[in-house]
Amino acid sequence: MERISRDRLLMDVALLFKERATCLRRKVGAVLARDGRILSTGYGGAPAGVAHCTPETCSPDKPCLRTIHAEANAVAWAARSGIATEPSTLYTTASPCIECAKLLINAGIQRVVYDEEYRDTAPILLLEGLGIRCERIGSVSTECSEFGLSVFARSVRSTPPDLPKV
Ligand SMILES: [Zn+2]
Ligand SMILES: [Zn+2]
Repeated sequence: MERISRDRLLMDVALLFKERATCLRRKVGAVLARDGRILSTGYGGAPAGVAHCTPETCSPDKPCLRTIHAEANAVAWAARSGIATEPSTLYTTASPCIECAKLLINAGIQRVVYDEEYRDTAPILLLEGLGIRCERIGSVSTECSEFGLSVFARSVRSTPPDLPKV
């Protein structure tokens, strides 16, 4: 039987979380998982209770000081909920920045799976140098066409099927 892989499934979930991101510079979604099960999720945006980024606070040409990155948010939620992050795999729609990479190291993450490669690849080299596997999987795959985002997008937009009359 043909099935979607765990990596594909969890990256597709990260891609959905990306759609919730509020930073105007870059949208990123992340999923923390162990043995194919989701431990925590995150997306880039201002801390809870703080106003979202605006064109005044967040411009494409300078780093955004307001946003917590998706990966950091996923680790923070795990901490807040008492969920161990070691060992786990992080799925992120963009390869981590250096600050997030350092956080992932100390959170005990063992593997990082990413979609887009961030322009700075030094964090990947740092992680790999410490034995943390980093793997890129694309956002579009043949698996995706049957099981992934496109199916989800259709299902949420279409009208629900008729329910049997009671
Ligand atoms: Zn921002
Ligand atoms: Zn980051």
